This record gives sequence, structure tokens and C-alpha cells, in this order.
Amino acid sequence: MKDRFKAVVIRKQDNAQSTEDVEIGLADLMNGDVVVAVSHSTVNYKDGLALTGRAPVVRKFPMIPGIDLAGVVETSAHPKFKPGNKVLLNGFGLSENHYGGYAEYARVKGDWLVPLPRAFTPAQAMAIGTAGYTAMLCVLALEDAGVTPDKGSVVVTGAGGGVGSVAIAVLAKLGYRVTASTGRPEEEAYLRELGASEIIARSELGGEPRALAKERWAGAVDSVGSKTLANVIASLSYGGAVAACGLAGGLDLPASVAPFILRGVSLLGNDSVYMPMPRRLQAWERLARDLDIAKLTAMTRTIPLSGVREAAADILAGKVRGRLVVEIGS
Ligand code: NDP
Repeated sequence: MKDRFKAVVIRKQDNAQSTEDVEIGLADLMNGDVVVAVSHSTVNYKDGLALTGRAPVVRKFPMIPGIDLAGVVETSAHPKFKPGNKVLLNGFGLSENHYGGYAEYARVKGDWLVPLPRAFTPAQAMAIGTAGYTAMLCVLALEDAGVTPDKGSVVVTGAGGGVGSVAIAVLAKLGYRVTASTGRPEEEAYLRELGASEIIARSELGGEPRALAKERWAGAVDSVGSKTLANVIASLSYGGAVAACGLAGGLDLPASVAPFILRGVSLLGNDSVYMPMPRRLQAWERLARDLDIAKLTAMTRTIPLSGVREAAADILAGKVRGRLVVEIGS
């Protein structure tokens, strides 16, 4: 174990947030019963919010950001984990009130750790990251709501982003006909490669929502929120459901109750951060089964730890396609 190691730290002074690369020691880390040697992390939309300070993700300063991490257990006082075990961690307050994945070591609670599925390397687990794991949570929610491939097609909004890309790949593999809604028409070939059979412009779902619209989809995975989610709800077919998880287009929801009371549709909320462990394990098991590794590779780009600030600005600007993996040691 190194005495001193690299970390990214966010500080706040006089209401101004700054981010710097530092060297710290194990004694500087927060409490926990497992130390993980972190090899990979990722940049999700929420990491973009934390790094730029655009939304109050970070609740405690100074903070090591990074809501996800993967690596190898270095030391453990937790009964389930021993040195050498490969693990991953999504959420549980990392980068909010506990130091996260943008450091060569993390001290965390063993109760937050997921054993790395055999199907994935640490880099692949972070290519999935919170975005991909949340996409799987959304698919599970649709399945629980009875949205099966024979009921009709499923629309994925924010299709070119992390949640969207993984959702398309998984849904297509499961046999759903997928409509991808994107603001980047130039990514049509990419989205079709992932498994989308129809591409629609973001603007089609971005206008003033009507109470009810033509019934188009049996299900939806929405990472955009706001008018887009309202239009999706209005366009679900009878008994349909939307798994909502994001706010890339806004936090509001200017919707009508009409689709709920006249078409019996369901709005399924999804939170990844404090999702109980059994459902996490189920989601990771399903990712190992239902996510094509070749598609995961095609949607992923790798950056060094020094690249996270630039990536943060890019992801908030909607410029990142698919997923980003952060190599912590590089
Ligand atoms: P990404 O930035 O990778 O994807 C978001 C996508 O949304 C973009 O790629 C873009 O897709 C689209 N988009 C961006 N800006 C706008 C806009 N102003 N209006 C409409 N569409 C827009 O982010 P992630 O996939 O990492 O996360 C997506 C959302 O899900 C975020 O809001 C994030 O906070 C949330 N999230 C929530 C979780 C939870 O636990 N509930 C967990 C994970 C994510 P395109 O160019 O194709 O239109």
C-alpha cells in the first residue's frame, strides 16, 4: 500500500467551489471497515454536477468526488470481504457525504460493496457505473410493471447518454423494440448499432405537453424529466409504464393526471443511491446476463483522472456519448 497517493479534492470557500489534484495518506480518509485500492471510476451526470458545483451534490467539504468506484480490497474488518476481493461501489452517499472514487484508495463501509461480477473487469464495471446500473434498475421496474416485449415498443429518452445507451442495449437484447429519442441526429448509426429500431428527434417530446397524446409506447426509460417526461406519460398506451430516473432536461414535471386516470399508466420512480443491496445484486446479475460486452465497449471511452474536470463540463453540456471510464492510476 502506498503511503501517499493521488486524489481529486473539491473545496469550498466564501461560497466558491474549487477542485484540485492533491496527494493524501490513508489517515486523511473517512471512517469505514474496508480499504479499497481503486483502479477505475467513471464520470456520470451527477459527477458533472458535483465537480462543477452546478447542483448541491456535495454536502460536506472538502470532498473527494466520484460516485462510483471499482478495485481490489486492500484491508478489511468486514466479515464478507477479505484482501484481494474484487469489488465495486455505486452511490451510498459517495461524493455527497463520504469520500468517493477519484482517489487511489477509498475507505468505505463493507455493507456498501458489491462483489465484482465474474463477467466484468473493474474497467467494464465502471463502463457500466451508476448510469448503467440505473438503466438496469429501470428495466427491472418495467418488467415488474408487466411491460413485456409483446406489449409494444419502449422509448428511451436521452438516448445518447449513459443511462440511455445502456438501456437501449439491454432492452434490445431482451427483445423489446426500442425507440431512441435524441438531440443528436448525427448519432443515429451509433444508436441503431446499440439496438434502437427507430430514432426520433428530442424536439418531438420537448414541446408543451398535452394532457393526452396518441398512444405510442408500452414503456419508457426517461433520464430527461420535465416536459419530455410529461410528453412520454401522455404518449403511453393503455396500462403502460415509464421508469423515470433523470433530470437532464429539468427537475419539473408539467404533466396531467389524465393518462393515470384514463389509461391506467404508471410512473415508476428509480433511485440508485440508496437502493437496498438485494436489488443491487439482482441488477448486477442481470447486467452480467443481459448486457452485450461488445456494445458496452462500443459506448465507452477511457480518460485519465486528470481528465475528469473537462469531462464534467462536457457531460453537463450533453456532449458525452455513452459512457466514460476513469483510470485512477493514470
Ligand atoms: P448523460 O449526460 O450521459 O445523458 C443524458 C442525456 O440526456 C444526454 O446525453 C442527452 O442525450 C440528453 N440531454 C442532455 N441535456 C438535455 C436537455 N437539456 N434536454 C433534453 N435532453 C437532454 O447523463 P447520465 O446518463 O449519466 O444521467 C442521465 C440522467 O439520469 C441525469 O439527470 C442523472 O442525474 C440521472 N441519473 C439518476 C440516477 C438515479 O439514481 N435516479 C442514477 C443515474 C443517473 P441526447 O443527446 O441523446 O438527447
